[in-house]
Amino acid sequence: MVMCSQVFAQNARPTGVYWDGTIIDSVPLPLHGCGYKHLNEQYMEWHGLTQDWVKIWGTDPLISMIQNAAADIRRRYPGCDRLQVEDLSAENGGDVDGHKSHENGLDVDLGFYREDCIEHDPVATNEPYAPSMVVNGQTSSNFDLERNWELMKALHRYGDVARIFIDQTLKNSLCEYAKARGEYNDNREVLRSLRHVTNHADHIHVRLNCPENATNCTNQGALTGGTGCP
Ligand SMILES: [Zn+2]
Repeated sequence: MVMCSQVFAQNARPTGVYWDGTIIDSVPLPLHGCGYKHLNEQYMEWHGLTQDWVKIWGTDPLISMIQNAAADIRRRYPGCDRLQVEDLSAENGGDVDGHKSHENGLDVDLGFYREDCIEHDPVATNEPYAPSMVVNGQTSSNFDLERNWELMKALHRYGDVARIFIDQTLKNSLCEYAKARGEYNDNREVLRSLRHVTNHADHIHVRLNCPENATNCTNQGALTGGTGCP
């Protein structure tokens, strides 16, 4: 049985900046836990790769945010697909193939919750990542608005989120959903943190602020402007 336990603070220290940094005493995210699984786990077994290959390393605030947010959504929506976790950082940080950042243990890529509740299977589909949630310029009917909106709020509840990179089409749908639910005004900061970046229609990229005690860690400039909703 997997316990929904919290991770207590250790001493992982992010240094430098997101795109040029390292991690001292990094912490691994267990490959699966309550309400989530690492998407590359099956791939790893299939190819006989070791854990070093999978970028599962981060800092305590990042690991605990992922575990707490996934467990929270799972408790409220049991029985559907789990949160799909993709790359965090390499064991000691630094360059990660296929990413400009993910260097100092404060970045993670996460998949979207799906209406059909089917978890992406990288081996069966021979596709490392889940399909895009933007189809013909529109948000896919398989994009689970309710749970993905709850996920955005949960990430902010459990982490000191600096930015969440996401395709604008999906952001617009979340804005509309928040307004329809009467949750727009109370969640302006959540919506403001959602920033359009191309190639983020099949996953989000969550970036945390430097923890207060991480004196050698450099934050990205503060966000300015409004919610960025239409
Ligand atoms: Zn990323």
